[in-house]
Amino acid sequence: MSRPDHVDAPRIERIELVPLFVPFHDIVREAMKAGSGGLGMAIPAEEAWEGGDFVICKLVAEDGNIGLGEAFVWLPETGVSPAQIIDSTEHALSRYVLNEDPFRVDRIRDRMDANVARSEVAKGMLDMACYDLMGRVSGHSSAHFMGGRTVDEIPLAALVPLMDPKTMVDLAEDFHAAGVQTLRIKLGNSIEEDKLIMGSLREALGDGVRLRVDYNQAYTPEDAVLAIKAIEPFDVDVAEQPVSATDPLGMAYVQKRVLTPLMAHEGCFSLSDILVLIELDAIRVVGINAERPGGVTHALRAIDYATQRGLASLIHNQSLGVGSAMQIHLAAAKQDALGHDTDLFGHIMMEDDVITDPIDYSAGTAKVPSGPGWGIDLDEGALDRYATGPTVKVEV
Ligand SMILES: [Mg+2]
Repeated sequence: MSRPDHVDAPRIERIELVPLFVPFHDIVREAMKAGSGGLGMAIPAEEAWEGGDFVICKLVAEDGNIGLGEAFVWLPETGVSPAQIIDSTEHALSRYVLNEDPFRVDRIRDRMDANVARSEVAKGMLDMACYDLMGRVSGHSSAHFMGGRTVDEIPLAALVPLMDPKTMVDLAEDFHAAGVQTLRIKLGNSIEEDKLIMGSLREALGDGVRLRVDYNQAYTPEDAVLAIKAIEPFDVDVAEQPVSATDPLGMAYVQKRVLTPLMAHEGCFSLSDILVLIELDAIRVVGINAERPGGVTHALRAIDYATQRGLASLIHNQSLGVGSAMQIHLAAAKQDALGHDTDLFGHIMMEDDVITDPIDYSAGTAKVPSGPGWGIDLDEGALDRYATGPTVKVEV
């Protein structure tokens, strides 16, 4: 491939891809196995979910700078494995990235979209890495390329898994005492139990704490209406994925019958998914993460579209440090447009991370890492430890 005329920044000359498996903490794995919903995961997968599958991507520029991307995959949700992400990058997407100027990320994104359908997770990983590389090359924080940082730290929501109601209240009180102002509560065993949990939480926490709920597809549309109406007296910010991921019309059925804004998670992967769900009036909050709708470019487009339509957006994920850093920068740039606290819990679920200096999550906030790009560096020892296969290198 020859060097295109338009390139004036250091071009991308190599892509390196590392497949990883990082186990969950023992306590998380045990909870996942505990049955009757485990962590509220109503997704009927046959394989036990014991850790996170990831691909870490390095875009290496000709001046030696490296931009980092991360793909988080879980087959029952994302439908692709690390091997598939690596294969589609190596054999298809790489030709629209190599030799390119990372600052022309919209062009890279559009070429990927024009030449390879779907593949949102792999495209998102590559797109994300361009933003880190822009920062590394220029010396700016990556938030600079998302409209600019508006805050230096972002408020975080915390996740309360579906357990016995007393334990859920205790955990919620611990989070609140540590500074967390928004809690995401897993529900979905039964309408009666949901009501008991939410009533107990509101009573224990008072009116100042924001509560949102995640059903992980637990209900039929008819039952979801009853379930959400039953907890609306306890002041619920958002109800996430109450019905099947494959039922956008069911989401619309529910949204038209409840006051609480719905958000899709398992049922939303691309910009077109977001457009359809908004236009069906099936969601009133747009859920964003590193791989949905895929990278920074499409996240910015989705947030801007939501804002234009008068809707809020919410960033939420369970990534490793690279994905979390990207989402923190995005939240710091778009804080005013979001309307909801960001929910990052990979650092709580996974037994370890792959970055050298941990992100500061103290006092219910995440501090935006300083330094160029994402402001983080890879721990190569951790990469080696968790790699499930050899690093794949694709070069100009
Ligand atoms: Mg969810």
